[in-house]
Amino acid sequence: MKKKLLTILGILALGASVLAHGDVELGPHGGRILEFSKNESLHGEVTLKANEFHITLLDKDMKAVVLAGQELTATSGDRTKPEKLAVEKKDGVFVVPVVKAGEWVIFQFREHAKAKPITARLQYDLTVCGGCKKPEWLCKCASKENKSGK
Ligand SMILES: [Zn+2]
Repeated sequence: MKKKLLTILGILALGASVLAHGDVELGPHGGRILEFSKNESLHGEVTLKANEFHITLLDKDMKAVVLAGQELTATSGDRTKPEKLAVEKKDGVFVVPVVKAGEWVIFQFREHAKAKPITARLQYDLTVCGGCKKPEWLCKCASKENKSGK
């Protein structure tokens, strides 16, 4: 029984690492996946709703995690003039005001107040991709093996 479970877990882990191969991973709601752990056990899915980023916590199986004592901070702007964004917890997700097109957002996630912060970065690039017609921040084309010789 136990052996079988381990085999299944092994296969799942393999699948996850294949998914994580590219730079961009999209979640069950079509949002951008950020890594909020060192071992792929926790993710944040960033979607845009009414000019706000909504960040849903997801476990290793991409199932929603209840928001409790987890903490998130977000910073944007350039390195010389970083700007802290107001992060709220609302309806079970983190809510962060949207940034200007092209700007980076640096997220720092803590599983609880005393946990070591995990840093994840996102560039809010609204340039539309010629391949998939999605804005670049939600485009997966680059994660395909797409190295033309030229
Ligand atoms: Zn694309």
